[in-house]
Amino acid sequence: MMARRPLIAGNWKMNGLKADGEALAKALAAKLKASPPAVDMLVCPPATLVDRVAQAVAGSALAVGGQDCHAEKSGAHTGDVAAVMLKDLGASHVIVGHSERRADHGETSADVRAKAAAAHAAGLVAIICLGETEAERDGGRTLAVVESQFAESLPEGASPDNTVIAYEPVWAIGTGRTPTLAEVAEVHRTIRDLAAKALGKDAAGRLRILYGGSMKPSNAKELLALEDVDGGLIGGASLKVEDFWAIAQSA
Ligand code: PEP
Repeated sequence: MMARRPLIAGNWKMNGLKADGEALAKALAAKLKASPPAVDMLVCPPATLVDRVAQAVAGSALAVGGQDCHAEKSGAHTGDVAAVMLKDLGASHVIVGHSERRADHGETSADVRAKAAAAHAAGLVAIICLGETEAERDGGRTLAVVESQFAESLPEGASPDNTVIAYEPVWAIGTGRTPTLAEVAEVHRTIRDLAAKALGKDAAGRLRILYGGSMKPSNAKELLALEDVDGGLIGGASLKVEDFWAIAQSA
């Protein structure tokens, strides 16, 4: 089996002012320097802090990413941020299609695909999020939803070098609830199979597929031990240095 280096990514969402964001990032960078774990680590602060955090951790192994980007490079899009602007600040990654964007801003998979393409054009790795709602899971539609979101959100030119997939069941985000290990394994295996059809078997074997949704120190080890789980996208628990670090240590 192809070895995939896990990615432990923190999504800070709309949290953090200058001082606490910088302190959190610096503390993580210091830990990474003192005892480098066998994983890649990434933090995605709010857009207001990308510049500051990128500067604070420059030269360390901690990568910095955005939480969203616009599909265009520039123009009349008040309040939006272009992928190339994030790149300009020192970001290497950007999350696209997070369920909070899909729900709060009506983003469709077509929008997500255009954003991911913009991320690639800017030289960023796109972390494409997908996952079912509770009603979809209860209705037995999880795999069908994931399949259509995957097909519709993945842009031309996607590869394991510029794309990461995050499976995030919407009902597990910020709720403390998680699917069973068997359910997570089933969805990740399905995504790997879809990737093999879309990108070829070799590329699919190198693609990182993260799990997200109430991952915390107490459940990270068993989730990260699943064969097709190549890391985590972590919201709440990424805001505490000790918790985020403990998750990285368990990968
Ligand atoms: C997320 O926002 O991507 C997420 C997984 O959040 P939480 O870990 O808080 O459930």
